[in-house]
Amino acid sequence: MLYFYVEKRIIGDSRRYLINTYNRAPIVLIKGRGARVWNSEGKEFLDFVGGIAVNCLGHCHPRVVVAIQKQAQRLLHVSNLYYIEPQVRLARLLVENSFADRAFFCNSGAEAVEAAIKLARKYANDHYGPERYEIITAYNSFHGRTMGALSATGQERFKKGFEPLLQGFRHVPFNDIDALREAITAKTCAVMLEPIQGEAGVRVPSDDYLRDVRQLCDEKGILLILDEVQTGMGRTGRLFAYEHFGIEPDIICLAKGLGGGVAIGAILAREKVAESFQHGSHASTFGGNPLACAAAVATIETLIEDGFILDNCNRMSEYLMEGLRRIKREFPSIVADIRGKGLLIGMEITKNGGPIVERCAERGVLINCTGGNVLRFTPPLTITEREIDRLIEVLENVFERV
Ligand SMILES: *Cc1c(COP(=O)(O)O)cnc(C)c1O
Repeated sequence: MLYFYVEKRIIGDSRRYLINTYNRAPIVLIKGRGARVWNSEGKEFLDFVGGIAVNCLGHCHPRVVVAIQKQAQRLLHVSNLYYIEPQVRLARLLVENSFADRAFFCNSGAEAVEAAIKLARKYANDHYGPERYEIITAYNSFHGRTMGALSATGQERFKKGFEPLLQGFRHVPFNDIDALREAITAKTCAVMLEPIQGEAGVRVPSDDYLRDVRQLCDEKGILLILDEVQTGMGRTGRLFAYEHFGIEPDIICLAKGLGGGVAIGAILAREKVAESFQHGSHASTFGGNPLACAAAVATIETLIEDGFILDNCNRMSEYLMEGLRRIKREFPSIVADIRGKGLLIGMEITKNGGPIVERCAERGVLINCTGGNVLRFTPPLTITEREIDRLIEVLENVFERV
């Protein structure tokens, strides 16, 4: 009874004191472990949202927790006026395990996109002059909510009411190489794409699309930026999603899973591109701070050294897909499509997803719905068969009643 009132008060106070930017489920989560979270009444939920692809190692992974505890006792913050040990360790790990030569750290996905936009423009300005500043992105893309990232985003619903936006962006249909070829002009400095469009409903391009994009960019001397904020850090079964497509980009944006639950963003770039940022070109007070970097070092070391995790991601991807396909066969009038890679999986349905998300939560399983009718599953990469069985059971139960 007491807990009920605590929960009620937190929800009431949230509605009273917070700016109303989120449509929240009436759930107050206070504890998490692995793929499980608990509310203030002690009710357990299986978490197939995972902070929307943030909690890649599950909640409170012991290695991440210990790294944070140790770092918090030693040093929380110093300015980038000085060298920072966890920051350079993280940069080295990212560089040695990717296409890139250098890293810059910030605090979120949108900030990583801002840094990529600035670096691409600066590079084009340095090498081709000030007329070359345009960045081509895809319709239905999502790159974040700050003004630059919002201008890059290819969805009107996020932009409405915030005009005028930043100049110098053009949008083309995703997965359409001819449209991209036609959109490129002498002004184009970069193409920026999500390897898999997450927010748009888990849209996977055809196998050769990104390879063709890479080739086109090379022909025209244009940079290829991949926004891997959602797809990076093992989410698709490889450390970075570009590895699936047999290409290397010039810049990638990272955030979400990078800190294993702690806020941190980054861009990684090739040497020739990174050179265009010099002392004073770009900065962030908190970017690369010791605490966030210690968490990210523990996260990426765990992902790389514990071969089990990426392996598990791929096996559980197959297992979850199989379960979802079974549901599709059982409910052909509800399920339209199932797609994804690794543990970034979408199930397109013919109904409004909102009530289904609610009913799953009532039955103790948290899922997300994006674009109105795509159920999105982004659980921890450590999820188990039994936990997936439970999701499938609950989904079947809910679908039987809609
Ligand atoms: C979530 C997301 C962002 C924005 O990240 P924030 O940390 O919310 O600013 C940018 N790009 C992609 C692909 C994302 O999924």
